[in-house]
Amino acid sequence: MTDLDIKHLQMHFSGVRALDDISFNVNKGEIFSLVGPNGSGKSTLFNCINGFCKPQNGNIIYNDIDLINSKPHQIVRYGISRTFQNLQNVPYMTLLQNVLIGAHSRLTIGDTINRWFSKNERIREENLALEVMDFLGIANLENKYLSGQPYGIQKLVEIARALICKPKLILMDEPAAGMNNQETLEIGKIISEIRDILGITVLVVEHDMSLVMSISDQICVLDSGKILAMGKP
Ligand code: ADP
Ligand code: MG
Repeated sequence: MTDLDIKHLQMHFSGVRALDDISFNVNKGEIFSLVGPNGSGKSTLFNCINGFCKPQNGNIIYNDIDLINSKPHQIVRYGISRTFQNLQNVPYMTLLQNVLIGAHSRLTIGDTINRWFSKNERIREENLALEVMDFLGIANLENKYLSGQPYGIQKLVEIARALICKPKLILMDEPAAGMNNQETLEIGKIISEIRDILGITVLVVEHDMSLVMSISDQICVLDSGKILAMGKP
């Protein structure tokens, strides 16, 4: 069953064709990998899916909704969250506070009012954050400040902040970049568990080909904004 249907996507930045007629489907429950050299359009594709960039042409259909006309805060509520290639964490906040930022993406006006008057609402959010952090093995660091934490831990915080949004589809931009071999194996296991245990469809950009070959159901190769090849590992 199709989860995400991308059709004839075109995204130009002045003269640069970052995405040039891209079409593919991601099926529900799949781990779908995007690979390709730097500058081939992978992060731009993520930016189009989560509403940061508005493509000049094409459609991105998710559960019958065309995401092209949706805003980032709406898209996360439809069930799509993401991580960033350049970490978007806040160094002077604790790990727990960083993860809680993701929970705010789903707050309604009613929730916001509840948070003012009810400690329970805040406790509920914190428990949810700790659950996600426990899943990733970083719950014991909840009160540590992010600055000074190893890069590998900061990458996990980035993933935790995306998971607390309760996505049905997660976009992960180079989760293993900058990791050593052991950490890369660990990330591979986490990506598989996100799909197998949490039941989330995964669209991942990655350069580590042994990781990509070991976890993917489908692989799409981009080059200069075009699809070069697509298929099973
Ligand atoms: P990748 O993630 O595959 O390394 P990107 O999607 O970041 O590639 O970039 C694809 C191309 O689009 C590059 O040539 C890049 O310079 C250009 N690009 C990406 N974002 C912007 C932007 N906001 N403004 C101008 N050019 C951009
Ligand atoms: Mg990129």
